[in-house]
Amino acid sequence: MSDVAAAIADGVLPGRLWLYANYHCNLACTYCLTESAPSVSRRELPAERMVSLALEARTLGFTDLGITGGEPFMVPTMWRTVVELAGILPLLVLSNATLFDDARAERLRPLSRLPAAIQVSLDHHDAAGNDEARGPGNWAKVVDGIRRLVERGIRVRVASTLDPEVEVRESDRSALCELHRSLGIDDDDHVVRPVVRRGRARAAGIGVDALPGDLPPELTITADGAFWSPFGPTIRNGELDTDLLVTRTTTPLERPAAALARLLAGGPPTSDAQLGIR
Ligand code: SF4
Repeated sequence: MSDVAAAIADGVLPGRLWLYANYHCNLACTYCLTESAPSVSRRELPAERMVSLALEARTLGFTDLGITGGEPFMVPTMWRTVVELAGILPLLVLSNATLFDDARAERLRPLSRLPAAIQVSLDHHDAAGNDEARGPGNWAKVVDGIRRLVERGIRVRVASTLDPEVEVRESDRSALCELHRSLGIDDDDHVVRPVVRRGRARAAGIGVDALPGDLPPELTITADGAFWSPFGPTIRNGELDTDLLVTRTTTPLERPAAALARLLAGGPPTSDAQLGIR
């Protein structure tokens, strides 16, 4: 068994590998970690690279994949890439769900037969509360997108991101849960999490500080390198944050995986690491 496989089997290195598909997005949410918007630098991982990383991950002993961005479905080939990836390892895709019209949702139908889920952002039970941070018309599109996925038997998780400084009334919290249940999503598939103070949230002065000890060390590969967590490769004033960079080297995948496993075992960082994590 390789060192990486042993670290995963022992629970030292989490089994999920994250891939940053891209950084652009059709939205521009006020708390976005990656300062995403339609015209930002795309920093894409090409589809074939994502597939080869998934195959390497499976060989190394990783147990599942997460895809994030940006909005992954802004990449024209993503509709078939996610199906291919879910055939390699169980898959979680983070999406704003606003691009899922009937034709596109239909292209995702094969996910209903695979170990796959799409995690959709929905912050409030009504449009006014949700759209304040995510833009006008977002709530209606998201709810429609969720309905289209659920109708096709695709597992959906709902993620609600809340500003920890804003008190949420119990009635609002209950109404949000009633909404996701009415859309066919169980309580187990509803995630509530605070805004993290990185990206636009940092500029706006909102959210919680996430120190490395607060973040599960889930290896995260981007076009720019390998990071400690999917909360690592964030963007600030258009520049990539590197405080959670493990190494710029991502080929073969065993290199960054072994580097992170070594760090978790108390070993030295790679020479190009810029970690505040020791
Ligand atoms: S938070 Fe998500 S949906 Fe909003 S701009 Fe960022 S990537 Fe897009």
